[in-house]
Amino acid sequence: LLQLFLPLGTLGIVYRQVKYTLADMDMVFRLLETPQEVKDSATASELQVTRGEIRFEAVDFGYQPERPILHGVSFSVPSGAKLAVVGHSGAGKSTLSRLLFRFYDVTGGRILIDGQDIAQVSQASLRRAIGIVPQDTVLFNDSIRYNLQYGNPQASQVDIERAAKMAHIFDFIESLPEGWETMVGERGLKLSGGEKQRVAIARAILKQPPILIFDEATSSLDSATEQAIQHTLHEVAGHYTTLMIAHRLSTIVDADQILVLDQGRVVEQGNHATLLALQGLYARMWELQLHDDSR
Ligand code: ADP
Ligand code: MG
Repeated sequence: LLQLFLPLGTLGIVYRQVKYTLADMDMVFRLLETPQEVKDSATASELQVTRGEIRFEAVDFGYQPERPILHGVSFSVPSGAKLAVVGHSGAGKSTLSRLLFRFYDVTGGRILIDGQDIAQVSQASLRRAIGIVPQDTVLFNDSIRYNLQYGNPQASQVDIERAAKMAHIFDFIESLPEGWETMVGERGLKLSGGEKQRVAIARAILKQPPILIFDEATSSLDSATEQAIQHTLHEVAGHYTTLMIAHRLSTIVDADQILVLDQGRVVEQGNHATLLALQGLYARMWELQLHDDSR
């Protein structure tokens, strides 16, 4: 119906705003069976994940052509390694994860997984390979069991319970009068931000994808729960290639590599110790957070 009134360009903008609001769009698209803005190329092949190596090569991107957001971003994450991305709010961190999931196409450069340009593979095969714990998780109006199992419809009850325990959501579910059959979402029990994040983490654990993205995945949790879950995430991430967008720097000190993003540019890169020694942006952010945490 919208199409009758709005020129296609406007529709594109509406779309992008909807996308921005709804973080787990893969799920939402499937739910609504909405056509996606990004199209499979006619010659799209299936992504063959062998090692799970990620490579950004001089990636440029803007949501609107007149406002570039990322400028020549290059980095690579070797198979099984953990890359943390830090930077001020608005630096472009979540944009990196959206591009890797191919909610949008890059405007310059390319993104490769195991040497294959993600713009040349089917979106279904790309999204099967990636588990994402977004900043804001959307739940289905369905049972909590369904919401966890969505990560992997073949998972057994034993698997589901194990994932729920690892994500520290098991006791909460068992404490509900209707337990696993409790209806959640907008029309059911409303979960807190932290509970939703833990559901999303359990989903990602169940999916066991070769590539994991955590986008400030524990930012809504209190610091005790955050620490416990960080421990789990480290265990889980140990087996997979992981992109971890961090809110609190204390959660990523042991990352293999830390990428510091500022206004869409990679300004520093290294491990925690090398970055501190640089006495640049990372060192300043670290200082600031130390003060915040001791207050
Ligand atoms: P971060 O995750 O580092 O806080 P984001 O990647 O979310 O930053 O955003 C980077 C920049 O892109 C910001 O200036 C933000 O306003 C802009 N932006 C993000 N999403 C959209 C969108 N859907 N449409 C237009 N601009 C956007
Ligand atoms: Mg973000």
